[in-house]
Amino acid sequence: MRQFLRTVFLVDLLKGLWVTFRSQHPKYIYTEQYPAQRPKVAERYRGAPRLNIHPETGETLCIACNLCALACPENLIVVSWERDEQTKRKVLTNFTYDTSRCMFCGLCEDACPVDALELTQDFELAFYTREGAIWDRQMLEEGPRPTRYKF
Ligand code: SF4
Ligand code: SF4
Repeated sequence: MRQFLRTVFLVDLLKGLWVTFRSQHPKYIYTEQYPAQRPKVAERYRGAPRLNIHPETGETLCIACNLCALACPENLIVVSWERDEQTKRKVLTNFTYDTSRCMFCGLCEDACPVDALELTQDFELAFYTREGAIWDRQMLEEGPRPTRYKF
């Protein structure tokens, strides 16, 4: 009898609706309003790679030692260099980083002896083509430039 009355008076349906309406208060809304509001990422988040340059001279900090490429389990970093005949030092000529294959483990930045390679907190890594996922030295030095929408 009790079950019958519950069914007739739609008790379970009303209980369900009450739960739904109780959650309509703005403090229960968890949807992030991206891109109008940019989410805060964790301090130790590892995102877009950056090849650091000296802030005053603008020269790359990379000494083309290739340790990052050797440390990478995905073999996605290619460091190109040539030898300076006068100083006998390696000079970086290009640096490519395939972000589509990267798992952001951070082994490459850990291996870098001069903190030239860094995984930043930039998370916007979308690209339209597979080639667009391969960042060259210039892109790595400039960093990603995602569109900032204004509402
Ligand atoms: S974060 Fe990991 S997978 Fe990505 S380039 Fe560095 S070592 Fe390779
Ligand atoms: S480990 Fe650092 S210094 Fe060496 S090639 Fe990679 S980014 Fe350059």
